[in-house]
Amino acid sequence: MLCLGIESTAHTFSIGIVKFDKGKCVVLANEKDLYSTEKGGFIPAEAAKHHVAVCDVVLKKALERAKINIKEIDIISYAQSPGIGTTLEVGCIVAKSLAVLFKKPLVGVNHCIAHMQIGKALCGAKDPVMMDVAGANTQILAYEAGKYRIFGESLDGGMGNYLDKFARELGLGFPGGPKIEQLALQGKNFIELPYSVKGMDVSFGGIFTNIRQKFASGRYSKEDLCYSLQETVFAMLIETCERAMAHTGKKELLLGGGVACNKRLQEMAKVMCKERKAKCFVPERQFLVDNGAMIAWLGILSYFL
Ligand code: AMP
Ligand code: MG
Repeated sequence: MLCLGIESTAHTFSIGIVKFDKGKCVVLANEKDLYSTEKGGFIPAEAAKHHVAVCDVVLKKALERAKINIKEIDIISYAQSPGIGTTLEVGCIVAKSLAVLFKKPLVGVNHCIAHMQIGKALCGAKDPVMMDVAGANTQILAYEAGKYRIFGESLDGGMGNYLDKFARELGLGFPGGPKIEQLALQGKNFIELPYSVKGMDVSFGGIFTNIRQKFASGRYSKEDLCYSLQETVFAMLIETCERAMAHTGKKELLLGGGVACNKRLQEMAKVMCKERKAKCFVPERQFLVDNGAMIAWLGILSYFL
């Protein structure tokens, strides 16, 4: 059983091809092309133009990598939500066109659940609490009492978007998270910032206003600010994960989303899990970030199971 999945919820246009092989997820291709800028932030209309420009090349590469003809595909899936309207539309149109042209069933899937399912399939987590910490999404979710439920989330924007915005002010370009991570490695002094956990939810707005004011004052180095920012906001995220794990009684934590590529965040997650005798699962980078393979895998689960 073969599914071709299209991801286009934000800056990534990706096509994955996944085989359902005796209950196992076998990724045959996971090709992607990212919209990025040297300076300035994410412009939704420009990102959509990027996706239109690269979609045929990404499709060709995915089919070549998987060594299959598109006619062999059984179903087509695409990320239906949540995401940015302009970019979602591109993935949806490409998926519908392929489905009509090649007479294949079409399945729309949820992007956040796709992160969870690919993590489970490839890392072996059975019943995890998941932290999806990405550009627009920051959610702590788990499957509980017959439904996927959100236990905690950002009360304002997603973690990655805040990192990207701050990086833009530092003149670092988009995406900013990895650049902040590099600068943070050279930080030496911890600068106190607001810390905002509300139950299992977090709020970032005040912290970023505060750090922008500190940066504008010229009294702190970029390195110390990035270091202190990571220590503060990642501690908040890990605290909410721990609260969700305590609440649900689950013994597994699964990470997903682009910000989860951050080594310091991974380290904090592993320490917390070790302390409460739980397991921490971190998918390899290509499956942490937005990717077509996870959309293809959830397409299979949704359509056949
Ligand atoms: P996603 O929406 O899952 O593709 O994730 C994109 C977000 O992840 C962007 O906001 C990036 O800045 C952020 N990101 C990627 N790598 C890192 C990293 N190493 N540390 C922090 N944030 C990161
Ligand atoms: Mg994502």
